[in-house]
Amino acid sequence: MRLILLGPPGAGKGTQAQRLVERHGIPQLSTGDMLRAAVANGTEVGKKAKAIMDAGGLVSDDIVNQIVSDRIGEPDCAKGFVLDGYPRTLTQADSVEKMLAERGAPLDVVIELVVDDKILVSRIAKRAADAQAAGQPVRKDDNPDVFEERLRAYYKSTAPLIGYYHAKGLLRGVDGMAPIDDVTLAIEKLIA
Ligand code: ADP
Repeated sequence: MRLILLGPPGAGKGTQAQRLVERHGIPQLSTGDMLRAAVANGTEVGKKAKAIMDAGGLVSDDIVNQIVSDRIGEPDCAKGFVLDGYPRTLTQADSVEKMLAERGAPLDVVIELVVDDKILVSRIAKRAADAQAAGQPVRKDDNPDVFEERLRAYYKSTAPLIGYYHAKGLLRGVDGMAPIDDVTLAIEKLIA
């Protein structure tokens, strides 16, 4: 199964992706996680991405497309994967389509987590507070100012993908404001 989780920052893509990993034994491909790993490891990609990520902008399409293309070629992706935080632009959407066409393994579904903006800001604040309380590092971009920028980037560059996948007949919406378990259930129903 090859699926994309789409939705604004803080919509719960990472949480639901983790559950898909557990239930279906497919890997989660999170470009955010991959980029943070590159930053932490001080790689060339990490050096290019760090300032952009800290400011809430989007890392260049070339960089993320390359990262995903490399990752999708690994053996654990053969039976499918959940893309989380990618594609985030129409250029990335074209790129993933080509990658998958080359492999003869098209997308099965794109699941949009539909969430009210107002709730997102408080979710992100909670994520930062929880991380701090647990003694974990707080993401630099999990603060209200940077979050505003991430939301702007989402509406400008990523939200157009909703129409793009709708036109392809691949889009399914799930209420992302429902309790976490209910969201999981709704997703499971869609992919059953
Ligand atoms: P979010 O919680 O906003 O969904 P992510 O962990 O997915 O956060 O991404 C964090 C940051 O990493 C983004 O704000 C952006 O700078 C960068 N990033 C992640 N995925 C992409 C992508 N597909 N294209 C461009 N930039 C990306």
